[in-house]
Amino acid sequence: MTDVWSHSKSPAAQTFGLILDASPDALLAIAADGSISLANAAAARLFGYASENLAGRDHRALLAEGFRGEVTQLFSQLRTLPGEPPTPREIFGLHSDGTEFPAEAAGSLIAGEPVAAGSGDAMPAGPLLLLSVRGTSHRQAADANLREAMSLLTATLESTADGILVMSREGRVAGFNDQFLTMWGISPELLKGDSEEPVLRLVVAQVADQAAFLARLDELAANPSAESHDVLDLKDGRTLERYSRPQRVGEKIVGRVWSFRDVSPRRKAQEQAHQAMLDLAAQAEKLRAMAFQDPLTGLANRAVFTDALAAALQEPRLKTVDVLLLDLDDFKEVNDILGHQAGDDMLVEVARRLRGCAPTADVVARLGGDEFVVLLTACPDADAIAQCIVRCLHVPVTIQGTVLRPSLSLGLASLGRDRVGASELLRQADISMYAAKAAGKNRFLRFHPDMMTALVQRTNMESGLQLAVARDQISVDFQPIVSHRMGQVVMFEALARWDRDGGRVPPSVFIPLAERTGLINEIGAEVMAMGMVQLAQWLSEDPSRSLAVNVSGVQLQDPLFAQTVLRLAEASGVAPYQLVLEVTESVFFDADCGLIKQLSTLRDAGARVALDDFGTGYSSLGRLQDLPVDTVKIDKTFISMVHTGEERLPILSAMINMAHSLGLTVTAEGVETVAQADYLSALECDSLQGYLFSLPQPGRRLHHALQHAEDALAALKKLR
Ligand code: C2E
Ligand code: CA
Ligand code: CA
Repeated sequence: MTDVWSHSKSPAAQTFGLILDASPDALLAIAADGSISLANAAAARLFGYASENLAGRDHRALLAEGFRGEVTQLFSQLRTLPGEPPTPREIFGLHSDGTEFPAEAAGSLIAGEPVAAGSGDAMPAGPLLLLSVRGTSHRQAADANLREAMSLLTATLESTADGILVMSREGRVAGFNDQFLTMWGISPELLKGDSEEPVLRLVVAQVADQAAFLARLDELAANPSAESHDVLDLKDGRTLERYSRPQRVGEKIVGRVWSFRDVSPRRKAQEQAHQAMLDLAAQAEKLRAMAFQDPLTGLANRAVFTDALAAALQEPRLKTVDVLLLDLDDFKEVNDILGHQAGDDMLVEVARRLRGCAPTADVVARLGGDEFVVLLTACPDADAIAQCIVRCLHVPVTIQGTVLRPSLSLGLASLGRDRVGASELLRQADISMYAAKAAGKNRFLRFHPDMMTALVQRTNMESGLQLAVARDQISVDFQPIVSHRMGQVVMFEALARWDRDGGRVPPSVFIPLAERTGLINEIGAEVMAMGMVQLAQWLSEDPSRSLAVNVSGVQLQDPLFAQTVLRLAEASGVAPYQLVLEVTESVFFDADCGLIKQLSTLRDAGARVALDDFGTGYSSLGRLQDLPVDTVKIDKTFISMVHTGEERLPILSAMINMAHSLGLTVTAEGVETVAQADYLSALECDSLQGYLFSLPQPGRRLHHALQHAEDALAALKKLR
């Protein structure tokens, strides 16, 4: 080793030199004049000189600019205050290659002679400064690394969605991130204090189950090495997942790290999934119920009824089994005019009333459409229940703003001594239900074996009707229509008659049959032709006289209908303006343009159109203005509401006023009493028709009809 300590050749001095050279810190002995007396190997390395070149140099050459006074200051400080060793100084050294480097310098005085100078070289006298210099470049790098690691940790802590709190073992808050503060709504000031108390209080106040929360804290405090993982429900509805583990430095536990995670969205999703599962299960249950239930009305369905009926019939001890089959009257009109929603509402209401009428029924079921059935077993008086159903159903109900009077036809079949099977019993109920419809609807009929005969008769009625025209069995009756104001008969209505095998089949029976089979085209034409021919004379006497003929919707479907009517009129010498075609509202449901065209052609030729049976359908007064009609014929059910003539019947006056305001004339049908005639005349009803004036009469008795009508008119006048 070639170093500045190697002057001494004595063994002790040599050892000492070795020790100095082995020192990792640079050691320099500096004389009072600032020159370097001695330097060790580390100093040579640190400053970049050969060892032998350092001795004798001014130490300032080793210091960077700005630090050159440092050592001198240190020197004088040591000399003036020898009892107080100064703290090391941060300096910058200057390497021989000109680069500067950070270092730490500390010094102490070597009093008296320097280490034995055995060589001949002269050593400066006085105290020397022993300067120890340590390069600190490595330390700065380490500092930077630490800073980087710290910032990384902070960034990580702040960027995590978890709220983190570190508590020391003594219960002090040792650290936290922003998320923790936001999560718990804690102001940072609160955490600056010495005590964890306020923080804890704030947190506990928000937890739903405070006792459990505190118990858990105690438990963990007693067991510092434990980890915990649990779920906290907060009062505000949030759910937090809480995780804690001990904080260790080496093996030592110095505190506890708490981490909170808001799992409310996940919780919510889980709850929603759970709810969806429940809904699904409920839906499955509903589907299962639907196998037995009518979804619209909630009544039982056909399957349930069939099973119950079969079971009842197999029970020998049951004294009575009654089947009440019912079908709404004219339900199609509700659907057609008011729409399907109204139809549905009506069915629901009917179901409700049915249940009310038959609370003891074994089954109340909807068989489909507007058909319902009630099964009664051991019922003492099925007729009374049937009666009640008909009555209750006929009570008006408001559906979608329209007042409707549901009515139904009910067939009742009971198990008799012959103990028929289920299908036969149902067939009997069905037959009696149809009989109730044929008998005029809105009623119930108990099955009677004669109905079977009637059924058979109905089936051969069709074949009979087919031949009726050819066999001259169709004839026409005429009923006068009078003008009270004019005091005379102004019109006759032609009414079809069918005489069959010495008996007369009522129009209410054969007209619907004729419409169903299409025979109405032939019959209608026959009635019209006969009517014109038989009335031609009477009509020709006064152009203000008219003939009214009933026309069914089926006839209007014929594209040649108008043409045929006009040709018939021409052939019989009747002017088209003397014709009135009576149609019911139902022809206008789903009316196609073909039908409207037939009516327009006839109206263009001068014929008039009357709306027959007005008020019986489900149509409203408001619809009147849209229909291509000239006259309304108020149905006899409204006229029959007049008994004394003293009653207030706003419906009648409304109908008449409404029609008049639309420029239509009004005819009242079924006028049977003087009171009714007076009442209607007072309401300025234009014309009247009914038994009061005359029954319908065959053409050969026309003068009788005229006479009777005129007599009645005269009597009315006299009464005034
Ligand atoms: P509608 O057109 O309303 O005819 C009036 C019905 O009322 C007639 O019944 C008539 O006899 C009856 N009537 C008249 N005055 C009175 C009265 O004061 N009191 C009561 N209670 N009834 C009275 P009819 O003749 O049994 O006809 C029944 C229905 O058959 C007619 O009702 C009409 O809709 C239909 N009809 C009759 N002939 C024809 C026809 O040639 N073609 C078509 N398509 N339908 C017809
Ligand atoms: Ca009529
Ligand atoms: Ca009528």
